[in-house]
Amino acid sequence: MSHIACFDIGGTFIKYGVFDGHGHLLSKGKTTTPISNEIVDVLNEKVKTFQLDQPISAIGISSCGLVDHKRGMILFSNNIDGYSGTQLGEKLSHLTHLPVSVENDVKSACLGEMWQGAVKGKSEAVFLTLGTGIGSSIVMDGQVMHGSGGLAGELGHTVIVAGGKPCSCGRKGCFERYASTSAFVQDYKDEAIRNGIGVEIVSGETIMELVMAGDPVALGVYQRFIRYISIGVSNVIHLLNPEKIIIGGGITEGTGPLFQDINNQVRNEVMDVYGCEDKVIASALGNDAGLYGACYLALNRLNMKESV
Ligand SMILES: [Zn+2]
Repeated sequence: MSHIACFDIGGTFIKYGVFDGHGHLLSKGKTTTPISNEIVDVLNEKVKTFQLDQPISAIGISSCGLVDHKRGMILFSNNIDGYSGTQLGEKLSHLTHLPVSVENDVKSACLGEMWQGAVKGKSEAVFLTLGTGIGSSIVMDGQVMHGSGGLAGELGHTVIVAGGKPCSCGRKGCFERYASTSAFVQDYKDEAIRNGIGVEIVSGETIMELVMAGDPVALGVYQRFIRYISIGVSNVIHLLNPEKIIIGGGITEGTGPLFQDINNQVRNEVMDVYGCEDKVIASALGNDAGLYGACYLALNRLNMKESV
């Protein structure tokens, strides 16, 4: 049976896993991301280790940064120094003599959720990750939208406040300047200072705890945050009419009213004809979504090769 070695390369960790040919995750782990020119060697060594236990038929990689999936190349990354321009697919294929597929991590995560996660069996979905910025991926008709230059789906840089806060992309008022976890934290810090409240180290999760405890400053910031997320999400619904929008990222993993509040607000924003059911749902695969998507693409590639 085919086994697939999968990697999810991030700025801090490389997560890895071995799947069987039916897409069952058999084992997984993670290692610290090395300097950029050692990444291929680390992956090669891991594959050799996996091969001690089972034959490996293909490699799937989900990676941070802008990825040319056709050439298996990292076009640009600001997470890992010197990683931009790495011919990841070609180099690893040369070392392992195995087919290697490479895709952007958010696009992989979306495919993983469609294959075995929150939107299993659906073919129209949008995936958003709330972190330092907002990562996004659009799947239509079961296919990731890449656009003419592989750059489709940068929803984080659509403007929701004309003339608003400046963004790293050069525009003002981008979605991610208001609805990312970083924006949520910054808004809370600003509001706390205005109210004479001492700000220690805060994260999205700690602010959510204050919200749950009924803290008035945190609640005000949270209500703004929900409103901004809902404006962006409603734009996406009107533009693409997806079956579901999945939202992932640390802040979305706790219990609490987040998804219900977003859905209630979205219902107020979206035209009735789009339906009144909850459109916005949590990721089901969490941190493993990228690995699942990488496996899906590797298996697809194998099947295509075998059918040619
Ligand atoms: Zn921007």
